[in-house]
Amino acid sequence: MFEKVLIANRGEIALRIHRACREMGIKTVAVHSTADADAMHVKLADEAVCIGPASAKDSYLNKAAIISAAMMTGADAIHPGYGFLSENADFADMVEAHNMVFIGPKPHMIRLMGDKVTAKKAAIESGLPVVPGSDGDVKTVDEALMWGEKIGYPVIVKAAAGGGGKGMKVAHNATEMADAFTLAKNEARNSFSSDVVYIEKYLQTPRHIEVQIIADNYGNIVHLGERDCSLQRNHQKVLEETPSPALNSKQRREIGEIAASAMKKLGYSNVGTIEFLYENGRFYFLEMNTRVQVEHPISEMVTGVDIVRDQLRVSAGAPLGYTQKDIVFAGHAIECRINAENPKTFIPCPGKIGAWHTPGGLEVRVDSGMYAGYKVPSCYDSMVAKLIVHGRTRNGAMMRLRRALEEFVIEGISTTIPLHQCIITNPEFLDGEYNIHWLEKFISEHQDDIIEEN
Ligand code: ADP
Repeated sequence: MFEKVLIANRGEIALRIHRACREMGIKTVAVHSTADADAMHVKLADEAVCIGPASAKDSYLNKAAIISAAMMTGADAIHPGYGFLSENADFADMVEAHNMVFIGPKPHMIRLMGDKVTAKKAAIESGLPVVPGSDGDVKTVDEALMWGEKIGYPVIVKAAAGGGGKGMKVAHNATEMADAFTLAKNEARNSFSSDVVYIEKYLQTPRHIEVQIIADNYGNIVHLGERDCSLQRNHQKVLEETPSPALNSKQRREIGEIAASAMKKLGYSNVGTIEFLYENGRFYFLEMNTRVQVEHPISEMVTGVDIVRDQLRVSAGAPLGYTQKDIVFAGHAIECRINAENPKTFIPCPGKIGAWHTPGGLEVRVDSGMYAGYKVPSCYDSMVAKLIVHGRTRNGAMMRLRRALEEFVIEGISTTIPLHQCIITNPEFLDGEYNIHWLEKFISEHQDDIIEEN
């Protein structure tokens, strides 16, 4: 097992990784920008190294500074968390070249899955159902028009290197195609320095359902069920739950098994998430994330598996130690992402936190690096906490979530707590009847019901 792990991230995920390491007797090294000198992960880690100024490109994305910090402190592995360098194959190569372990899959797997065109090809070869679309990149407007006809409108033009919902444009008919193609290509070039785009059928009312898998280096692989992440705003997840209210137990088992066996066929090891769109009873592969995800705790709550602990174990070369039949799914879990944003306008609201009181009690978990008096910096993601609850039934989990949101006190900044309170009392949501467009429509129709307390 590792003796010392450098955590190349910040916020709640840095803390999450620190906690797993601590419980395994592994020493931790925090890295931080000048803006994060007072952050919780910096205070709790065994050692901390300042790696640069506030701007992420000069600190959390500064590969050389992070590698130097790891060498200087004698770390034997680097955990990249999510975001930042977590899906950067060149960084994973660099970590290995310096004789340390990159906590994640092998660099060639990150590369394969990081490009959506090659990922989709790999998905087809390994037996996953995909959204019908172009068989590779699309280079000209004429080619795009040809695919539009062939697939049937509406279609979506997507960046091969895409992420964070950028570089995607929908064309409802041939007239819209030239613009959609050019806009997506330009956005892709500006955001990802690659203008490779591809085209697929635009599904109109799908749900976003993803499967968590974990695999060791010896071909052992299990899935930890699915997560329904359909509640999105600007393609960003807001609230996630497991199991999905849309699936029955047979469908749940089937998609889990399909995802796990595809990953086994590909020779994937480490943790990963296979994302699907789900419409009219059918699944379509969307993309794969080769890292731990923000919403991993809900899978932990229903399976009892400590995903980060097991990620550290398999990265160190340990066998998984359990099989699919050892995974028992119990109850229902929900996660609310609480952002420092105005709950009606979603304008970020950084600033100094006054009072900070987190809810507690049975089966309530808060993952957060915040504390009273902490100043939320303006230069990073606005998520300040994840509230995760578990219940024996979906209804039980909802009642607990309602109670926990009521208990949460965050003063000094606006947060999206009132939005969550509004969502979880809505009858459609309570009936589980929602798709990827539901939340945006809900927000536009319920502006006045979102009541800010601060
Ligand atoms: P990113 O990597 O930028 O998050 P994804 O490919 O995962 O991009 O897609 C993000 C979201 O965009 C999906 O959750 C879904 O809401 C929407 N989307 C992507 N592809 C399609 C499609 N073919 N049909 C309908 N919606 C789509």
